[in-house]
Amino acid sequence: MNSVLSDAIRARRDDLIALTQDLIRIPTLNPPGQDYRAICEYLDRRLSAHGFETTLVRAHGTPGDSEKYPRWNIVARREGAHGGDCVHFNSHTDVVEVGRGWTFDPFGAELKDGRIYGRGACDMKGGLAASIIAAEAFIDTHPDFCGAVEISGTADEESGGYGGVAYLAEKGWFDPARVQHVIIPEPLNKDRICLGHRGGWWAEIETKGEIAHGSMPFLGDCAVRHMGAVLQEFENKLFPAMAARTTDMPVVPEGARSSTMNINAIHGGQPENAPDFDGLPAHCVPDSCRITIDRRFLVEEPLDQVRGEVTALLEGLRDTRADFDYEITELNSVLPSMTDRDAPVVQTVAAAITDVMGKAPEYVASPGTYDQKHIDRIGKLKNCIAYGPGVLELAHKPDEWIGVDDMLDSACVMGAALETLLLPRD
Ligand SMILES: [Zn+2]
Repeated sequence: MNSVLSDAIRARRDDLIALTQDLIRIPTLNPPGQDYRAICEYLDRRLSAHGFETTLVRAHGTPGDSEKYPRWNIVARREGAHGGDCVHFNSHTDVVEVGRGWTFDPFGAELKDGRIYGRGACDMKGGLAASIIAAEAFIDTHPDFCGAVEISGTADEESGGYGGVAYLAEKGWFDPARVQHVIIPEPLNKDRICLGHRGGWWAEIETKGEIAHGSMPFLGDCAVRHMGAVLQEFENKLFPAMAARTTDMPVVPEGARSSTMNINAIHGGQPENAPDFDGLPAHCVPDSCRITIDRRFLVEEPLDQVRGEVTALLEGLRDTRADFDYEITELNSVLPSMTDRDAPVVQTVAAAITDVMGKAPEYVASPGTYDQKHIDRIGKLKNCIAYGPGVLELAHKPDEWIGVDDMLDSACVMGAALETLLLPRD
């Protein structure tokens, strides 16, 4: 790496701290999706002052968008002196609810012992700040660079990204003709490259029965017993089949390196009593039982197969179990995404990590999902990774923090990647 650039980045330590603190102090909580406009205006002022051309984009009509909580996004672009590729840093600006257990002010952004504390510090305002510092230092060090640098701040990643990256991708902002490399500074640790994420399929299954007096259950049909049979099928067939599947995806933690399914909720029969009610229950055979499933799947598994194997088990019960009837309702699905290890952005960032950190990167994939799916599927742009500072396990927890040195190191990696991708080769 050009030591001039690395010095320029490290010289901005105070600026980086102040920028991160400013971002954390804008409480962009999602839900409901508040202060999106405020954080876009803040980024607009910051980046316009550094020669970026900025566009604020409201995702009209997307989930949660309203006059009270408009879904605002910002895209900022700085053209170089010559033609070339565009490198885009995408960060979501929303943060999850504060939750219990904090010992720091969640929106105070206190700096203590080299860490900045606050909701969103690691997920992912620290990554956003690092990418801004990297881009500004790169532009100041190499004003005659080729191509373009883009920085976006987008809404709603924590709730699926439909009012953020998905909307921008639909409007062509991630068209491969205008953007060639995407780095998402999610908190995957400064020495790891995240190639993608698993897919998800969420559905509700209802078994049907017939209501009757609880003393004569044979006059009715117990929907909860039918659901018991469904769960038994899952235990006997589905879970072992999923556990046996292997993958090329380097998912971390290791336990998520296969297909998984959570049963999020189960409900059958009469509602639970209110806490202040101490009467006795009535006696009824339940005529309905519902579960919600959260099925996470691998890049090797087509979504149709994921749906199909659950449906096949239910159909099998219809054939073998008297009076078995069910309904399945799909709630949502997202496809897995994984970038090739030989993609240019992967190779470039890998070399930059080796250079800055003195060791080769670890390749990982996320057990959950993030905005890469929209850049891949809607934007049709495959050359995309997540790379950024912060400890993934701290995300969404109380006393979330980001390390200042980690942000500086990863900003140096981002800067080195910009040098490789946007400086003329001689
Ligand atoms: Zn995030």
